[in-house]
Amino acid sequence: MHIFDTHLHVDVRSYNDLEAMVLANVRWAVALSHDVFKMSSKEVYLDHYDRLLRLERERAEKAGLKLFVGFGVHPGAIPHDVFELLDYIPELLSQDGVVAVGETGLIDPNDKLQREVLKAQVEMARDCGKPILISTPYDHKKRVFNRVMKILEETDIPPQLVLIDHLDPNLSKEAVDAGYWTGVSLWPPYPFVQPENLTPALLFEEYDPDHLVISSDLSSFSNDPLVLPKLVLYMERKGVPPAVLEKIFRLNPAKLYKLNLA
Ligand SMILES: [Zn+2]
Repeated sequence: MHIFDTHLHVDVRSYNDLEAMVLANVRWAVALSHDVFKMSSKEVYLDHYDRLLRLERERAEKAGLKLFVGFGVHPGAIPHDVFELLDYIPELLSQDGVVAVGETGLIDPNDKLQREVLKAQVEMARDCGKPILISTPYDHKKRVFNRVMKILEETDIPPQLVLIDHLDPNLSKEAVDAGYWTGVSLWPPYPFVQPENLTPALLFEEYDPDHLVISSDLSSFSNDPLVLPKLVLYMERKGVPPAVLEKIFRLNPAKLYKLNLA
């Protein structure tokens, strides 16, 4: 089965990692912009977007990985001229291969600037009809989640355009009830889903396979490029039906990012 990794950062990974992923059946991925540097000005972000769109897609293509990209402003790296940057992004989103607004998110629910920047990006996603990936942090997740839900309600974005990432089963239920996608990532320090407890029961009763995507969030902090293929293999051995795996690891990502993978 071929796998779609919905959230990773290939610009901080080696070419060997890309080849290893392809050998293990990862064939599509979305590389999202992130806090790769301090991101002190809009120029740093624009150079980062340019690298993702040209060099990283070319590098991935050479390894056999079809790479799409997303552009956004990370809540942990807001430049001093962020609102000027936000003016540039809509036009950049219309380029071939750019499929999402992200990585966005909220780290501190009391930080007004973080909230304003997130809201502006949700409105941007709504206006251009592209999905938005919203990360939630590992500390005070519930409070952040509640704030994110409030911002989403205020913006009136179509729910099928929203992926709230790094959610535990309880928050996932709330997100799915509102019509949003749930993301689980296998980022090693704090994964909510470890292969050893990802049972069919967890998948079917705690998460909703119709609204779930699972990603590696591969970055400079995580070191196993095979984390997703290993999870698929583990789930196969646990007896998760192939049609469910196909849905979570290929069909859902294609639907979320509005891609025809044929
Ligand atoms: Zn990420």
